Amino acid sequence: MAKKSASAKNDALRSLPSVTVLLDSEPLRKAAEEFGQPAVTSATREAVDNLRLVVHQGQGGTKMPSPKELAEQIATQLSAQEANTIQPVINATGILLHTGLGRAPMAQEAAEAAGQAARGYCNVELNLMTGQRWQRSKIVEHLLCELTGAEAAHVVNNNAGATGLILATLAMGREVIVSHGELIEIGGGFRVPDVITAYGATLRPVGTTNRTRVDDYAAAISEQTGAMLVVHPSNFRVEGFTESPDLGELADLAKEHQVPLVHDIGSGALIDFKQFGCADEPIASESIQAGADLVFFSGDKLLGGPQCGIIVGRRDLVEQVMKHPLSRALRVDKITLAALLATLKIYRDPEKARQSIPLLRFLSLPLDKLKKRTERLAKQLQAKLKDWEIKTNEDETFVGGGTLPQQGVLSWSLTIGLSGKGLSEKGSAESRVKKLAERLRMGKPAVVGRIQSDQLILSLHGVFEEQDEQLEQAILAAVTGDCAR
Ligand SMILES: *Cc1c(COP(=O)(O)O)cnc(C)c1O
Repeated sequence: MAKKSASAKNDALRSLPSVTVLLDSEPLRKAAEEFGQPAVTSATREAVDNLRLVVHQGQGGTKMPSPKELAEQIATQLSAQEANTIQPVINATGILLHTGLGRAPMAQEAAEAAGQAARGYCNVELNLMTGQRWQRSKIVEHLLCELTGAEAAHVVNNNAGATGLILATLAMGREVIVSHGELIEIGGGFRVPDVITAYGATLRPVGTTNRTRVDDYAAAISEQTGAMLVVHPSNFRVEGFTESPDLGELADLAKEHQVPLVHDIGSGALIDFKQFGCADEPIASESIQAGADLVFFSGDKLLGGPQCGIIVGRRDLVEQVMKHPLSRALRVDKITLAALLATLKIYRDPEKARQSIPLLRFLSLPLDKLKKRTERLAKQLQAKLKDWEIKTNEDETFVGGGTLPQQGVLSWSLTIGLSGKGLSEKGSAESRVKKLAERLRMGKPAVVGRIQSDQLILSLHGVFEEQDEQLEQAILAAVTGDCAR
């Protein structure tokens, strides 16, 4: 028996297609033209090695693919890899800051500035007036100070980085006082207690989940205190019997004891979002005004700029933070700085900000206009797709991205479900709607919506008006693929 299986294995190994033969095959010669010889050679070697391993480990019965079959498999795999690129997506999810879709789309001006910085050289760390080197945050510092009322500013990779850098600078080996109600998780591994520990500080929680008073902070201050941290609970709310101290009162307490008060406002609103019908979001300038020593936030949430973490506040503390060794590890690149600078310039004129920054433009969209666009699209699609029932429905849009929880903004959506005629055809409604969503996702441009009770819901709230035509074509292409006949 053992002898028989060993010889079967040897036979199998002998019949293993050779790399040279495979590379000379039609599918792989074509693949080499498209993807380059090195990629094809390495994929082919790997495929043959894998097959050899399977034979070695197997009991001899391995079915050997023909060289033609194997070559085709390799070519298919290479095409699949190549298709896996970052590509434009039409965001029809109704979530405006979708982390999976890259959070905030940038303003045209910001995208152009980023492109220009990327293509050539730029004065990211050179003061062109004096010819001297400078700290790269200097380029955006004056604007950040102008827009927030702070003395100084620094920019790092993201807000999680800003939080870590501040904790490491002010509280490593010391205590950080935080309200129990703010020991939250933002998502994606950002848990306030863990972040504090990770940067070598000790958490000193005060108060209770729903109520924390200034006295609770006062009682916790000691020689060991490195900082008092206030965190905006972003995607979480405690309602009912609640109390939290006024930031100004906390600032007075912090000053009295010479302890830095640092405020993680999270989403980084530079303007009041109540004008868009959104709930109370902390505004950077208000936090500085109230007396926080350092205020920090994301660049790609409500601010609508590139991914970065912005730190503003007292000059001495900002400088201390900049000098910390971690600062270098969190340094932003020239592309981010160029995009941020262009975004901040837009904020000098709030009306321009509402028009140019996509997130703000989406939020300012008049409801009746959105309704008209949605109805127009529904009518056009319905005329062409008889198997499907296309309706418009009142809906809610969420800002998302860890901001403004449950805070829906009134909106309109397109609902695509099977009509009576479509329902009688083969395939359950569930699987056909799922298939449609998949085809839209894999189209070019990709379209992402959401499925709810066997219907595909597409929201135009986060769709740029100039994409309406593309969206219509994408839906028609996805349906006519195999869903309708
Ligand atoms: C989103 C958020 C963070 C993390 O910011 P990133 O820019 O995603 O790193 C930290 N703190 C709060 C309160 C947040 O809302």
